[in-house]
Amino acid sequence: MNLPNPEQLGIVFYPDPVLQVKCAPVTDFSPSLAGLVLRMLELMHNAPGVGLAAPQVGVAIRLFVCNPTGEPGDDLVYVNPVLSDLEGSEEAEEGCLSLPLVQSMMRRATKAVIHAVDLQGQAFEEAGEDLLARIWQHETDHLDGKLIVDNMSTSDEITNRRLLKKLREDYAASH
Ligand code: ZN
Repeated sequence: MNLPNPEQLGIVFYPDPVLQVKCAPVTDFSPSLAGLVLRMLELMHNAPGVGLAAPQVGVAIRLFVCNPTGEPGDDLVYVNPVLSDLEGSEEAEEGCLSLPLVQSMMRRATKAVIHAVDLQGQAFEEAGEDLLARIWQHETDHLDGKLIVDNMSTSDEITNRRLLKKLREDYAASH
């Protein structure tokens, strides 16, 4: 596929429709994919955030980056990720770079195994827990078009109502 010029990419915000589609598997491992990933890492760190999925920069492919510590050496890249062996359950507040200031209580598994390929298309798997496992679940949700506001509790809906209304108005005004 033809990827956009990475320099022109920025974070897209709710309710942009690209955030609500099922993303396509990555099949092209050309150098332009690495360019996209570098730009995503830059946008994630600048935000700052701990994870960013390709649809959040307007590219509907199955790829995300994350960095649970914020340290430059801890950047992680997952292409065509699939989660398995989900275990445990814990609720915690989550935010999302595509939903500035919105917080939603999300129940997630505390352990997971991720199967993915790297930028060269080489398969690997990793086990993760706690924050890392939570980020994996949040980001793989993005690849299926799911957002933290999709199934909010009534109290989260009330808390976030104004923020979401403002985001919808801003989106409508700029598109
Ligand atoms: Zn997110």
